[in-house]
Amino acid sequence: MSAALPLLEVYAALDRMHAWRGWHWWPDADPFEVCVGAILVQNTMWTNVERALDRLRQANALDPAAMSALPHAELEELVRPSGQYRQKAKKLRAFLDLAETHGGLERLLGVESPLLRERLLATWGIGRETADCIVCYAAHQPALAIDAYTMRLFSRLGIGPQSVAYDEWQSWMLEHLDRERLQAGHPEPPRDLFARYHALIVMHCKHLCQKRAPLCADCELRARCPFPAGPQARG
Ligand code: SF4
Repeated sequence: MSAALPLLEVYAALDRMHAWRGWHWWPDADPFEVCVGAILVQNTMWTNVERALDRLRQANALDPAAMSALPHAELEELVRPSGQYRQKAKKLRAFLDLAETHGGLERLLGVESPLLRERLLATWGIGRETADCIVCYAAHQPALAIDAYTMRLFSRLGIGPQSVAYDEWQSWMLEHLDRERLQAGHPEPPRDLFARYHALIVMHCKHLCQKRAPLCADCELRARCPFPAGPQARG
């Protein structure tokens, strides 16, 4: 592992390139809508999630009580555009049960992030990335979501773990960001930094650092990135 290229330098470049773009969970979104979106986006593209969210909105079901009251077949039908709709409807039910068990969504999201994360991860259908998105973007608490975009970007930049293990990537980023934040006196609170960093990575990988044909000529990181010289460098 190495971090020859400081993560805050990457962050600043991403911010200059993409801060103007809109992103669904930044700066703020309705907490329940974030939770539902975080579950529905598993294994699909956000455009499909938007279609499912629109259907839920039109059915006045983007509210925990209203969604709980829906017949299960109707919930399945409403989330169908997000794919794997039977499983996703079950996952939403499991999340609604979790919220109800802990006194409602607001109370569930109001507990400290380690406990909230533990409860989310103990819920059927919620993995690490979904849990961290909920903690960060719905509960507004510090959590850094990792995804395939994160691994692609930093691997191309020639930094980060060699593995594809979520926990390893998350520890690596947190460790370096904590150290760099303290050294640089970075002003953003950790939650805001983590929320914004993840959003910028997603935007960068969607718009420039694309999987098959990255638009390196338009990328501010080009001078520090070994990838344009040949993808065999890494990743
Ligand atoms: S230079 Fe190309 S490969 Fe490197 S980060 Fe930018 S878009 Fe990605």
